[in-house]
Amino acid sequence: MDFSYSARTDELLDELEYFMDKHVYPAEKVYAEQIAAASNPHEQPPVMRELQAEARAQGLWNLFMTHDDCGVGLTNLEYAPLAEVMGRSLIGNEVFNCSAPDTGNMEILALYGTEVQREQWLKPLLDCGIRSAFAMTEPAVASSDATNIGSTIRRDGDHYVLNGRKWYISGILDPDCRLLIFMGKSDPDAPTYRQQSMILVPADTPGIEVLRDLPMFGYHDRLGHGEVQFTDVRVPVENMLGNEGDGFAIAQGRLGPGRMHYAMRAIGMAERALELMCRRSLVRVAFGQPLAERGVVREWIARSRMEIDQIRLLVLQASWLMDTKGNAAARSEVAAIKVAAMEVAHKVVDRAVQTFGAAGVSDDTVLARMHAVTRALQIADGPNEVHLRTMARLEVKRYR
Ligand SMILES: Cc1cc2nc3c(=O)[nH]c(=O)nc-3n(C[C@H](O)[C@H](O)[C@H](O)COP(=O)(O)OP(=O)(O)OC[C@H]3O[C@@H](n4cnc5c(N)ncnc54)[C@H](O)[C@@H]3O)c2cc1C
Repeated sequence: MDFSYSARTDELLDELEYFMDKHVYPAEKVYAEQIAAASNPHEQPPVMRELQAEARAQGLWNLFMTHDDCGVGLTNLEYAPLAEVMGRSLIGNEVFNCSAPDTGNMEILALYGTEVQREQWLKPLLDCGIRSAFAMTEPAVASSDATNIGSTIRRDGDHYVLNGRKWYISGILDPDCRLLIFMGKSDPDAPTYRQQSMILVPADTPGIEVLRDLPMFGYHDRLGHGEVQFTDVRVPVENMLGNEGDGFAIAQGRLGPGRMHYAMRAIGMAERALELMCRRSLVRVAFGQPLAERGVVREWIARSRMEIDQIRLLVLQASWLMDTKGNAAARSEVAAIKVAAMEVAHKVVDRAVQTFGAAGVSDDTVLARMHAVTRALQIADGPNEVHLRTMARLEVKRYR
């Protein structure tokens, strides 16, 4: 294993860190103020457009894309440290067009889209001219087991007709959202993992109704998480991704890199929280001593450093495996980083919240929101228990 950063990564890392210091951190407050003042809180604030234009002009754009023809063509190992730096700010990944769910959707289009689909949808997504959503989870069934998905995709002549109720569909409330990738059952009689398909649905197709703007621990994210009803939504047969029944295979194909992105951004959040914790504990004096002199706080700091560095190595190992052996060979490691990175990030953020006292739960710092994000992301994109199940299955299989 060789985890040393390539010359390309070193160069981009310098540029990215400079960009974050100069443009992104100072814009966090402006971004929040503009959202609070907007008539639609899901609209992209003007400051984000400005940041994106600047990032793009500097070549810090679509760095997540490992396909040469779509982005800079970095490997997962090369991108990982960059994702970490972006993750230090909750608005970071949007600035560089590296945010979910668009990243996963672009990945799907790059891997499975036809020429026509790529031209129509991938190109504008790479330009960030439009946004997209991924519609899989359903309120009525345990969706961590995707075989439960009950929405239907039924062929009717030259069209497919879609019906079902989805929820926590991130991005759908953004007025720039033009595309949904919808997962549903196209053949309930097929073998279990061939029953599902994925299909491209223009967001303005009649029959799509956003019923609710769902919160995350009371926060309403800029992108918005929608509960959405699909009633007799008709899309042309050409919108199918791959063939009927490919839904599971496509879902598997996009998983590796997406989870690495989440994990590295979690490390970025943890690093920011640790930095804030150290700075605060040096200046906050209680019972005659700065908090930094207290044994308990020192232990939080030391443990946080240790845990963050362990996780980073795990993520670099998973990235290296994906690059050298493929996503399938890295399944266990990819599952591990999704769980471990988010748990560590949540733990470190929680310690930082405690160190800040009341200020930690206010919105004067990024900590409260990071606390919610690192908790929710232990459910989103598959709950921890499901990833642990995957790991245990692979581990036990070796001894059968
Ligand atoms: C902020 C946020 C954003 C999201 N964005 C999207 C999106 O854009 N698109 C989309 O389609 N979905 C999205 N989701 C939904 C998310 O992917 C699902 O919530 C997740 O897959 C779990 O499905 P579920 O909620 O139906 O939980 P369930 O399947 O009902 O599971 C409930 C709990 O059961 C436990 N559990 C499940 N399986 C096992 C097991 N094998 N062993 C032990 N315990 C188990 C876990 O603790 C789990 O949390 C989002 C969720 C959140 C919170």
